[in-house]
Amino acid sequence: PAQPVYAGDLPEGLKKISNIIAVSSCKGGVGKSTVAVNLAYTLAGMGARVGIFDADVFGPSLPNMVSPVNRLLVVNPESKSILPTEYLGVKLVSFGFAGQGRAIMRGPMVSGVINQLLTTTDWGELDYLVIDMPPGTGDIHLTLCQVAPLTAAVIVTTPQKLAFIDVAKGVRMFSKLKVPCVAVVENMCYFDADEKRYYPFGKGSGTQVVQQFGIPNLFDLPIRPTLSSSGDTGIPEVVSDPQGDVAKIFQNLGVCV
Ligand code: ADP
Repeated sequence: PAQPVYAGDLPEGLKKISNIIAVSSCKGGVGKSTVAVNLAYTLAGMGARVGIFDADVFGPSLPNMVSPVNRLLVVNPESKSILPTEYLGVKLVSFGFAGQGRAIMRGPMVSGVINQLLTTTDWGELDYLVIDMPPGTGDIHLTLCQVAPLTAAVIVTTPQKLAFIDVAKGVRMFSKLKVPCVAVVENMCYFDADEKRYYPFGKGSGTQVVQQFGIPNLFDLPIRPTLSSSGDTGIPEVVSDPQGDVAKIFQNLGVCV
């Protein structure tokens, strides 16, 4: 088996987590956070104990996509560890819940903040921690892989041919970091109208990625107004429509992570 890249001892707060899943994309705006949140709530719906770590310090989306009653993280005065907030049983940590909003930071500071948020949180016992990675393939990804033993990565992309080049970059990064890419999600792939299926951005780049890199699973996620509005209402689509076809796609994704 591949040796993990993470350095040193596993931080206390991460010791009781069975699987750490990175949801990653090479560009912003392709639906990475949407996939991360719906995947997490699908796993929770299957009975797993789940947490979401929003690692996007510059543009944290998690606070808009879920509706916890407590919107601020709390620090335990004795242990000094961070207590996650919670929505429908899923534990949540995001810089957006740290009460500081967006900040101007240099790279090393960002890595420090992420490192601290992830490792000083008392996650408790979790079957899955889903990490919503920042877009790209940079410093922060390396930091995360050094701090936490990632079990698997899910890559989110859109169907355009151009996206292929970026996805390939992401897959190579995870392969260097010895993290297996278990699935590619091709988001905004198609929409159905008048009993026909339309592929507005073309077809085939996802298939090319999975074939070229030997990734075992490819999922097509449709363009859905409800997926977009659920990002604004704070109730994930798999929660508001658990029998819908989007929920079924996430159930299949949940089985492979
Ligand atoms: P990223 O995390 O990659 O920046 P987001 O998940 O924040 O992307 O999605 C960007 C925007 O696109 C959000 O407003 C989201 O609600 C919307 N969106 C994502 N996926 C879909 C989809 N399949 N259908 C409709 N809207 C979507």
